[in-house]
Amino acid sequence: MLHRSHDYAHLIARWRSVARAAGLRLRTLAKDDGSDLFYIETPRLAGNAGLYLSAGIHGDEPAAPEALARWAEKNAARLAELPLLIFPCLNPWGLRNNVRTDSRGRDLNRMFHDDRHPVVAAVRKVTQPHRFHIALPMHEDYDAQGIYLYEVQRGPHDFGEELLRRAAKILPADPRVKIDSSTAKNGLIRRRISPKKFETMGYPEAIWLHLFHSENTFTFETPSEAALDMRVRAHMAVLDECVRRIARRTNRG
Ligand SMILES: [Zn+2]
Repeated sequence: MLHRSHDYAHLIARWRSVARAAGLRLRTLAKDDGSDLFYIETPRLAGNAGLYLSAGIHGDEPAAPEALARWAEKNAARLAELPLLIFPCLNPWGLRNNVRTDSRGRDLNRMFHDDRHPVVAAVRKVTQPHRFHIALPMHEDYDAQGIYLYEVQRGPHDFGEELLRRAAKILPADPRVKIDSSTAKNGLIRRRISPKKFETMGYPEAIWLHLFHSENTFTFETPSEAALDMRVRAHMAVLDECVRRIARRTNRG
């Protein structure tokens, strides 16, 4: 079946409908590479109970923005009641061209340590006042042999296994014991952060979130050689579980 997962204009039209249905504003984030970028911040976002969601920072990973949009469409009725900061697509040029980087070959996911990139600078500014219980940058990997998850370890609140368990009902976990030179177990890469390492490499979004904004930081990856619909559904399963945990905390007050 054909799909429109690289059609940025279509994606944003869908987000406009979602925002309208949810009674939320689709706000302008930045203008870059000939595209307008948007975000959604719900009025419930306050304190440190929120959920940070972002997709499409790598343009050749289309299941992530597709899943985020489809999940929001499915949950439009309750979206405004949740504490959310959502970036539907951080690299529209990349998405349209099926390329990881922006038009100048820059990997935005190595630029979160400063404000040199206009999109990263805008994300940093919008995010600045907020703290999150969970942050979830959504990705894909063409080398992957299944789903996998990076969890940045902080304290006793780790629940990476549970996120993977939910998604593994749709796509199996990557069986490799080394993924991207990190030790993995049943698709989970749990690591502590050495800021030094990332100072030379440039901060990924997840590292910046972990250091400054988020209690629990995950990067979820689907294997881009699997069927799009399966990849989308695996991402949606992880989103559902994150939201379940957030909603539980929010309702507790
Ligand atoms: Zn990626």
